[in-house]
Amino acid sequence: MTHAPDLPPITGPVRTRFAPSPTGRLHLGNVRTAVFNWLFTRHHGGAFVLRIEDTDLERNLAGSEEGILEDLRWLGLDPDEGPGIGGAFGPYRQSERAERYAAALGRLRAAGHVYPAFGEEDDGGEEAEGEVRRFHRSFRELPPAAAAAREAAGEPFVLRFRVPDVEEVTVVDRIRGEVRFPAAEIDDFVVARRDGRPTYNFAVVVDDVEMGITDVIRGAGHLSNTPRQQLIYDALGADPPRFAHLPTVLSPEGGKLSKRSGADPVSELRERGVPPEAVVNYLSLLGWSHPEEREILTVAELVEALDLDRV
Ligand code: GLU
Repeated sequence: MTHAPDLPPITGPVRTRFAPSPTGRLHLGNVRTAVFNWLFTRHHGGAFVLRIEDTDLERNLAGSEEGILEDLRWLGLDPDEGPGIGGAFGPYRQSERAERYAAALGRLRAAGHVYPAFGEEDDGGEEAEGEVRRFHRSFRELPPAAAAAREAAGEPFVLRFRVPDVEEVTVVDRIRGEVRFPAAEIDDFVVARRDGRPTYNFAVVVDDVEMGITDVIRGAGHLSNTPRQQLIYDALGADPPRFAHLPTVLSPEGGKLSKRSGADPVSELRERGVPPEAVVNYLSLLGWSHPEEREILTVAELVEALDLDRV
């Protein structure tokens, strides 16, 4: 893995987020992202934000949000701010931010960065790993007046992002250095579904901009989405955050660690009597090592020692 020596040091305060989708309980595979974000934030000083990404209504699972909050509280990874009541900070929820996404979509549409594609089915706008790309650009050059007429006639449409005519999109990642993506491989991805709900890539950027997130730390599985997000930052006229994509935690069989492949749910560890500090310590060592190779560390010692340069 190549480091990027030319990246400036982080001189805090930082603002980070953990953005789980409420599709089940936290487990060792996905809660590691929260641990790294929280430790990184404590190390540099700043604020850690919790955001529930619940716009994919079909995948939401009742009760998951409560479970996620309970697991984070038990691990001591409480958010520093949020729309809470009674002194405790609740999470931001994407389902409560619809007007913000609509406003941002309106701005981008007026500027020609997004355009309607009629008669198309919804798609999540995300790229699945290994997916064969199909290019959907047929509505790119539809004159605005023709689009307005079809819209007025009630024809359903999704909104697509107009990928600019550039050679490549370069993502600067604190762990991987510069990662280049040929723009020709990026489709005009969907940013809003037929009912107007934003897709993941769009909502996440609007939120990260509005919440002032300085550092996006997440699993490497999201790296293929990052060039799309970077294009959205550019279109919104916002500076992208510093990105860090953590190496994927593998299962003993070599696949991605998931609920199905041995990633214990946090709640089960709690029921088995594992102390929360031990879980945080264990997760911190998945992808990071202490400068003196120490393996048993208190949370305070981890806050002191953990930074992204040793990931
Ligand atoms: N909601 C996404 C997930 O559950 C995370 C989004 C992000 O970190 O950008 O994987």
